[in-house]
Amino acid sequence: MSDFPKGTVWLVGAGPGDPELLTRKAERLIRRASVIFHDALVGPGVLQLARAGTRLVHVGKRSGRHSQDQGSIDRLIVAAALEGERVVRLKGGDPSIFGRATEELDACRAAGVPAAICPGVTAASAAAAGIGQSLTLRGLARKLVFVTAHARAGEALDLDWQALADPDATLAIYMGKAAASEVSARLIGAGMDAQTPVALVENASLPSENHFHTTLGLLPLAAASALGAGPALLLIGRALQKRGAGAVQVIPARAEIV
Ligand code: SAH
Repeated sequence: MSDFPKGTVWLVGAGPGDPELLTRKAERLIRRASVIFHDALVGPGVLQLARAGTRLVHVGKRSGRHSQDQGSIDRLIVAAALEGERVVRLKGGDPSIFGRATEELDACRAAGVPAAICPGVTAASAAAAGIGQSLTLRGLARKLVFVTAHARAGEALDLDWQALADPDATLAIYMGKAAASEVSARLIGAGMDAQTPVALVENASLPSENHFHTTLGLLPLAAASALGAGPALLLIGRALQKRGAGAVQVIPARAEIV
């Protein structure tokens, strides 16, 4: 394939987990790769698309358990490309959203290795689909903020809470499970209404998907009791108001539509 010669790197968005949410391009690149470096969040159904004989290398990081530091991942990717491999760096969701894509692209550029991004469906989109609601809402949520609430162990979150406490915005908080109490307290402290709707979505797009509707004030309790060990997204804002009678029925992700 002309866009994937030997010695090149594709940063490929694997989407939120369901292999059907891969782009056709991502699937083609995965099938063409000779080596795939993948994250912990890449679903098994996605990895099964690789050809027999493709080397699958797990370089995943889950918070608190860093199996590889970023520098060694960068070096692994570059070394494989310089050896003439067709390298796919497979990342959960979209590579350009909280995916350390810049570090990897810079490492490739510095080594003269051609590299490009294939976008993917980000977790916030899959979470919205899971609860059957829109992230934006005409007149009420004109702004959508992607924010990470990941802090280094023992450190407070360094976020502009005043700016985030915007009643006209929807906040899609990545890596926010552990910080749910702090997020709730800080947003309320910055003036956000404690009744602001919140949706928690864990394992979006996977058969194990789990969602829970609550309010900003009750978020700490809900995050502690309703969420398991899977990746979860916190969605906060008036667009997440649970819809009443007449709401659309969310079709189970795996349902056969006839
Ligand atoms: N690049 C990814 C995000 C990586 S950061 C993307 O675009 O989606 C990892 C965080 O993404 C997790 O801590 C979680 O907050 C979120 N996430 C990833 N996959 C998810 C899923 N299937 N369901 C819910 N949240 C998910």
